[in-house]
Amino acid sequence: MTSSLSSVRVEPVRQYIGGKRVESAGGETFETVNPADNRPITTVPAGDERDIDRAVAAAKEAFEKGPWRKMKVAERVAILERIADGILEHVEELARLETLDTGLPIKQARGQIRRAGQNFRFFADMARHRLTGETYPVDGTFLNYTVRRPVGVAGLITPWNTPFMLSTWKLAPCLAAGNTCVLKPAEWSPLSIDRFTRIVEEAGLPPGVFNVVHGYGETAGAALVRHPDVRLISFTGETRTGMEIMRNGADTLKRFSMELGGKSPVIVFEDADLDRALDAAVFGVYSLNGERCTAGSRLFLQESIYEPFVEKLKERVRRIRVGDPFDERTELGPLIHREHLNRVRGYLETAREEGAEIAVGGGTPAGLEAGNYLEATLILGVRNEMRVAQEEIFGPVLTVIPFREEEEVIEKANDVIYGLAAYVWTENLERAHNVAQSIESGMVWINSQNVRDLRTPFGGSKYSGIGREGGTHSFEFFTEVQTIHVALGKHAIPRFGAE
Ligand code: NAD
Repeated sequence: MTSSLSSVRVEPVRQYIGGKRVESAGGETFETVNPADNRPITTVPAGDERDIDRAVAAAKEAFEKGPWRKMKVAERVAILERIADGILEHVEELARLETLDTGLPIKQARGQIRRAGQNFRFFADMARHRLTGETYPVDGTFLNYTVRRPVGVAGLITPWNTPFMLSTWKLAPCLAAGNTCVLKPAEWSPLSIDRFTRIVEEAGLPPGVFNVVHGYGETAGAALVRHPDVRLISFTGETRTGMEIMRNGADTLKRFSMELGGKSPVIVFEDADLDRALDAAVFGVYSLNGERCTAGSRLFLQESIYEPFVEKLKERVRRIRVGDPFDERTELGPLIHREHLNRVRGYLETAREEGAEIAVGGGTPAGLEAGNYLEATLILGVRNEMRVAQEEIFGPVLTVIPFREEEEVIEKANDVIYGLAAYVWTENLERAHNVAQSIESGMVWINSQNVRDLRTPFGGSKYSGIGREGGTHSFEFFTEVQTIHVALGKHAIPRFGAE
């Protein structure tokens, strides 16, 4: 099913190396397909080690010999702001490419593209004000101070969910700090970044500062991780992939930022604003096609409100509009790929085998068989130890678990390997803070859906990741702190060998 609304110009994807759009060294390609009908959209170069070598060499040369690192901050910031403007001027085109490539409903895709523009604006501003150091005066005898320096060539590896926004979340701070980089986008969603290379060019980014190598994770991605001239890897993706990347990066002692999987709890107490909690719970797991790392995929409901809440929840989930992602009214589009759809469906099978009940959805919406569509799905009768309550499904699937007491729900919420986000709903201030601080997760939202403030640290604990990005935390990762010790007087120096 290709909607007439989807009209957007698509070109064959190219590698972007040293400021030039090029074929990959081996000439091999693969196809990117439209999740709405599984028809091929265009070809994508299947890069390998040779492309990575070329891209890293270009990034290294741009770092060592090019103007980027030494440029006045005001000039660097001006280029980043022009990139932001370029994104914001092309929201519609980039959103259409993203929707075509990923199945993200167009309205939500536009929101993500705007966020991408804001990421560049925000980190341009951060570079202006926050690339600062510290001073450590010592009793008038020493003045020690720190400076933040760019690290060098960064490797950025991104997933297929909200691929454009997530790439800019890494790119903007990486470039703002004066690094150069090679980006390896996910193989299922190459289009928006390919279009972005022209925006970057128009903004006047010096060649070689930003390079893109498309290709499979096991070849292009792994070569980037192993490359001795790449100093750091910022990775967003599955936990298992993160583990593999850390193993492969050990021999070249990489610095890692790991944004990995999640299975985030939404905890609703009986005293909560139940209408708002319902809105947030539904939006939190079914938006972005359920392919959201911070999705609240485990809903814990206090027993006294379980029945009425679940009745309303069922009704809402049944009414979620599944369909053509180019239709402005669509709330849930097709999943990224047939392989991923089958994986998500596999979990529904597992849920049945484990004795849970698919209370709403679970099937393919009528007439949409050609695409990777799945109805919004609600699973009841779930126990916390079931696989569907423990493993990341990464689709429009919500599991619901009742609880009686605060202590019990904290224990259950924490009884999972992940620790990315959590959402707590209660009008009791004391309880809200106590529960939030008892949850093992990198982030908690109280009486809120996932509203982001770009200054705050973003990241997960446990198997959800290592490190934090966002605000100054991104600069912690993308800069090297150098300490300079200055003697202000004649301090004692032992005179070995003098007498
Ligand atoms: P994935 O791990 O399969 O792939 C992510 C990227 O890694 C892709 O570009 C892929 O090509 C590459 N890759 C795969 N194997 C590699 C290897 N051996 N070496 C180097 N690169 C390799 O993840 P995905 O399926 O694209 O994305 C979904 C996952 O991402 C989910 O688990 C989700 O929770 C997670 N995610 C996390 C966050 C966060 O901020 N914590 C945000 C978005 C997505």
